[in-house]
Amino acid sequence: MLVHGTLIHAPVFGALEIVENALITVDEGGSISNVESVVNDARLETARDAGTLIELGSQQYLLPGLVDLHVHAPQWPQLGKALDLPLTEWLQRCTFPLEARYRDLAFARRSYESLVANLLANGTTTAAYFGSIHVEATKLLADIAYSKGQRAVIGKVAMDNADQCPDFYRDQTTSAGLDGTRELIEYIGGTGGDLLHPAVTPRFIPACTDGMLAGLAAIADEYGCHVQTHCSESDWEHRYVIDRHGIADTQSLDRFGLLTDKTILAHSVFVDDDDITTISGQGSGIAHCPLSNLYLSHAVFPARKVLDRGVKAGLGTDIAGGASPSILHNCQMAVSASRAFEDGVDATLAATERGTPGSRIDFREAFWMATSGGADALGLKVGRFAEGYAFDAIVIDTGIDDSELCTWDDLDTLDDVLQKIVYNAGRQNITDVWVQGRRVSG
Ligand SMILES: [Zn+2]
Repeated sequence: MLVHGTLIHAPVFGALEIVENALITVDEGGSISNVESVVNDARLETARDAGTLIELGSQQYLLPGLVDLHVHAPQWPQLGKALDLPLTEWLQRCTFPLEARYRDLAFARRSYESLVANLLANGTTTAAYFGSIHVEATKLLADIAYSKGQRAVIGKVAMDNADQCPDFYRDQTTSAGLDGTRELIEYIGGTGGDLLHPAVTPRFIPACTDGMLAGLAAIADEYGCHVQTHCSESDWEHRYVIDRHGIADTQSLDRFGLLTDKTILAHSVFVDDDDITTISGQGSGIAHCPLSNLYLSHAVFPARKVLDRGVKAGLGTDIAGGASPSILHNCQMAVSASRAFEDGVDATLAATERGTPGSRIDFREAFWMATSGGADALGLKVGRFAEGYAFDAIVIDTGIDDSELCTWDDLDTLDDVLQKIVYNAGRQNITDVWVQGRRVSG
């Protein structure tokens, strides 16, 4: 398959690469074998005649598929609800009762079919999913992601601490949680092909006993699989771990052996310089969830500092702590939150005392996080257009009627076009979605 048109990607942090008249050659396995820029090339005519040419229009732009590093799949029906509650109440009153419903596979199917289709339509070609505690429902999530063609990292959530988890929704014993984790890893390893990757998934330290955390680290080591968990998300959660273990989340997770180069730490809002050094040293990645943080963390993630220290980092929706399924929306929020961090928010203070200078990131850096950064954090060869990478891509059409995305040939550079995409593209502008060379939405 050949794809011809204008591509925009961010293969290197901080800079865009824009190629007009790009010709991408995609092999039969769905990987990119060549990227070049051509005009009036004979191969275009040949491929057009053979029906193997995808030609983008003058108002269409090819972008890498978006990577969502943090999704709670069972919380999909709760999207846009209950965000007036603090984190602990949000979990106990709303989230745990909803997640407990996934023992019912018919309910799970209805929810997960809707979720995966919705994320693909929003351009999310790779998602890192927390499932529920239920092995069968999480296998079903894997089946649905696979059948719809989405690339995914998936884990059965583990939570066995009776002090923090209700009777109706927890692993009844540590060994049950560990056995279930192992069963899911083997199921995904056997059926998921190149698309699916299993993950050890301790919900967060408060929800797990020390025995669970140690057991999960051993399983992650045994299988060499991904690890995903929350880290220093809110004042309460950050303080809870210090009170229980005498050290902060990052150091505690590291002591248990849960920080590896395949670990994704959601949030990490309260990390200090030592924590950043530890995360960087272990090669772990961070899922920055800017929209969720404004509601449940009550603070802003220090994106500029973390990125400048070279930590692997991408973006997450944190469905349903974040009320949008769109990674583009979270790009915009990441920029906006960093600007509030830099400028401050309390107008009664003098401008010089109000904020934290040097904290902003721009749309190019947020877009890098949404694509290359997220992909690199997961260790997957996606997120950019380069030889040997999978063809995971989306088309943004700026010529759609009834859309807020308006571009002007005589006024906008291609750099401007991407900025407008980040700020104003809706799902109606995403007209094609491919994963591993297969068209999966649009
Ligand atoms: Zn979360």
